[in-house]
Amino acid sequence: MADFTLGILGSGQLGRMTIQAAADYGISCHVFAPDANNSPAGEICNKLTEAEYSDQIALNNFYTVVDAVTCEFENVPTDALTASPSDILKSPGVKALATAQNRLMEKETAKLLGIPTVPYWKIGSASDLSNALNALNGSAILKTAKLGYDGKGQIRTKSGDNPEQQWQNINTDLAILETFVNFKKEISFLIARNTKGQTKIFPPTLNYHENGILVHSSAPAILPQSAIDTGCRYVETMANHLGVVGLLAMELFLTEENTLIFNEIAPRPHNSFHWTIEGCKPSQFHQLVRSVSGLPFGEVTTSKKWYMKNILGQSASELQSGYSNAESYVHDYGKADPKIDRKMGHITWCE
Ligand code: AMP
Repeated sequence: MADFTLGILGSGQLGRMTIQAAADYGISCHVFAPDANNSPAGEICNKLTEAEYSDQIALNNFYTVVDAVTCEFENVPTDALTASPSDILKSPGVKALATAQNRLMEKETAKLLGIPTVPYWKIGSASDLSNALNALNGSAILKTAKLGYDGKGQIRTKSGDNPEQQWQNINTDLAILETFVNFKKEISFLIARNTKGQTKIFPPTLNYHENGILVHSSAPAILPQSAIDTGCRYVETMANHLGVVGLLAMELFLTEENTLIFNEIAPRPHNSFHWTIEGCKPSQFHQLVRSVSGLPFGEVTTSKKWYMKNILGQSASELQSGYSNAESYVHDYGKADPKIDRKMGHITWCE
């Protein structure tokens, strides 16, 4: 599809891997981001615009040269997406983006759709927090409603803690207090959806987090069939409700009773599905490109067991071990500065 240009808002590794998949189909990519130069996506795209998401002139110029636009992270300001002309396909869509940017809104949407959530409270002041901690009777996590990722903007708390101190620590004007779930497993589901409303769901992934950051994943997750069916139904219901075009990931907790409880959504490629690059034909990035460019979906089954390990800044040297292991597929995002907890790359292998 040499005549198709995909615009990407954002410049991180998810954009980079989307560009790599688009290139397989002859599609070129134009990256727009405030830090586009020397970024993981900016380094390998066909064209880039380095400008603020509020720069209307730069956005207008960008939208005259792209056929569709997608967001590679969910905190792209929704105004940057709505600034596009109506004939430009917007992925994942404004409703999906706005919902995923607000933890309260995503939980309210889950509840509306009959997807179970943990008990939670909207917190806008120390006195809200005091009331919620009194009602809680146990442990909880206090999270900023907006702009949190990879465990950032989260504090563990419990009944009896000092609400004024915790409210000061979280340092925001809107937060959510979530009851702590003693889950058995963490599972993610991923759906691709196109403009015709057609969908394809990847096999679910089992995830292991440390300090709120994904450390490793394995797939397909071994789960009771009823849990797989339920998770697929939840992610499809949410994608249809939000009118997603592109990808929607849903993170869920599996309890001892095999009940799935909603955690959050991400309307974009998801770290826990990086194994699909080698494990599925097409990968999550290919399905995203297909859904926005009008190409038909491919089948996303796998006959093998896949494993993915994130390489963070503090263990960046582990990428080297990937090169010396004949079974490993190594992905280096090309980031120069190995800061603590920064995602530098990942390694995938299979059995
Ligand atoms: P989040 O950014 O909300 O996905 O949180 C990051 C990680 O923190 C999750 O993947 C879980 O491992 C953990 N976590 C978040 N919320 C809860 C909760 N309500 N109960 C238990 N663990 C949680």
